[in-house]
Amino acid sequence: MFSLSESSHRRLNPLSGEWVLVSPHRTQRPWLGQVETAITESQPAYDPSCYLCPGNERARGVHNPKYDSTFVFDNDFPALLPQTTTSELNEKGLIVAQGESGICRVVCFSPRHDLTLARMSPGETRRVIDVWADQFSDLGARDHINYVQIFENRGAAMGASNPHPHCQIWASSSVPNEPRKEQLSLHNYKAQHDRCLLCEYFLYESKASERFVLSNEHFLVVVPFWANWPFETLIIGKRHVLDIAGLSSDERDAFADILGRLTRCYDRLFNTSFPYSMGFHQRPTDGQEHPEWHMHTHFYPPLLRSASIRKFMVGFELLGSPQRDITAEAAAARLREVSSNP
Ligand SMILES: [Zn+2]
Ligand SMILES: [Zn+2]
Ligand SMILES: [Zn+2]
Repeated sequence: MFSLSESSHRRLNPLSGEWVLVSPHRTQRPWLGQVETAITESQPAYDPSCYLCPGNERARGVHNPKYDSTFVFDNDFPALLPQTTTSELNEKGLIVAQGESGICRVVCFSPRHDLTLARMSPGETRRVIDVWADQFSDLGARDHINYVQIFENRGAAMGASNPHPHCQIWASSSVPNEPRKEQLSLHNYKAQHDRCLLCEYFLYESKASERFVLSNEHFLVVVPFWANWPFETLIIGKRHVLDIAGLSSDERDAFADILGRLTRCYDRLFNTSFPYSMGFHQRPTDGQEHPEWHMHTHFYPPLLRSASIRKFMVGFELLGSPQRDITAEAAAARLREVSSNP
């Protein structure tokens, strides 16, 4: 029997069906690579040059309203358009393409340019959750929309060009790769075990403690056993809820609490405004029931060892499998150390 904390091994991600290589013996090797500048600059509450601040001009001369809570608008440079053709191309199974239609929106979390999820009050975050739920229902109800992907890119390290707190919604006519892989795994697990994969994982991690980060009455945060990114986390709801619109009022309040505590925990880890990509995976909106789906939230932060040392997915990770040195258990212990103050 090998040791998960000492020997090299690979771990299965039962959601994606893919493996991650773990090399815990390498954590002492010296670092000689790129050092990124720490993000220490503070932001003003209002930035006259920000295209997301209330009243300011966006692309093509459109002005934002002087909003005082949340604000949703259609992306000025959308990756998907509603009227795209649905025709297909297939030449010898080599040159294959399908028309893809959709709707892209932007959600400003707050009129304040300087806030983040970590700095917003639970009430303010609850309003954002209600907007996410309404947007999921509104977009998902449309005939040509079969999946609604809600995600936030936070910080320059993740390519986010604007610090104003906001997320994007890409609603598409096909189910994108990641949820499509998970859909298959959730379906197969239910067929084999007659249980939900994530309900079972919630129960397993509720009894274990090595990967625990945070919890409240309705949600559990862990560094999943199969995490790729050093401080990746997974937020799982206790109840089997298919999508964000299915969360009860109490669960939405609890979700706001857990999002605030997790992002503050991240900010404290390396004493920086922690960059990440986060988003929800939930049932497709293709008209099927999808009882196999269990809505959940992924946080994928790039930082490895400090505010300036990030993880790169290159080399073996691009050509072979993702790889990590620090184990999920060691990462969770680090996050627990900085999670004491809610
Ligand atoms: Zn702004
Ligand atoms: Zn479930
Ligand atoms: Zn997922």
